[in-house]
Amino acid sequence: MNTLAYIGLGANLGDARQTIAAAIQTLRESGGILTLRQAPLYSSDPVDAQGPVFINTVVGLDTTLEPHSLLDLLQAIEQQHGRERPYRNAPRTLDLDLLLYGTQTIDTPRLSVPHPRMHQRAFVLRPLQDLAPGLQLAQGSFKTLLAGCQDQKLDRLVD
Ligand code: AMP
Repeated sequence: MNTLAYIGLGANLGDARQTIAAAIQTLRESGGILTLRQAPLYSSDPVDAQGPVFINTVVGLDTTLEPHSLLDLLQAIEQQHGRERPYRNAPRTLDLDLLLYGTQTIDTPRLSVPHPRMHQRAFVLRPLQDLAPGLQLAQGSFKTLLAGCQDQKLDRLVD
C-alpha cells in the first residue's frame, strides 16, 4: 500500500543548494519511493542554530516504505550527503525530517510524527503550503500557524 509522506529538507553549510538537489535526486532513485514532488526553495535565518542562512524545501512522496524504513533512508541520505563538518560537533550539512506520514500519529523512541516542531517553523509551513495548500494539519490552519511565525525571516528563492 502507498502512503503520501512529506519530508522537510534543510542545509546550511557548503553548497547548500547543491546538497539539497543531490539529496532529492537520491530520494527519487531510492527503492520504495514511487513519485516525488518538490516545493520551491526558501532561505531562512537559523532558528536555535548558528551559522549561515539555511536553504529549505519540502518534498511530498508516494512511498511503499514503512515509517521506520523511511527514516532509515533519510538518515542514510544525511550521512551520504552531509559529511562536511567544519569543526568537531558542528551542525550537520543536511537535515531531513519526516514531517507527515499519511494521517498517522507515530510516537516511538526513534520517531515522532507529525514532526513535533513543524507547526512552529515557517521554513516548513511555507513550502508545505506551496505543495499541498489543502492539507489539514492537526495543529491548525496554515494561515493561523504562519501568523505565529511572522518573526522568522524567510525568503523564497528564484529558480
Ligand atoms: P535532528 O538532529 O534534529 O535531525 O534529530 C535526529 C533525531 O530525531 C534522530 O535520532 C531521529 O530518530 C529523531 N526523530 C524523531 N522524530 C523524527 C522525525 N519525525 N523525523 C526525523 N527524525 C526524527
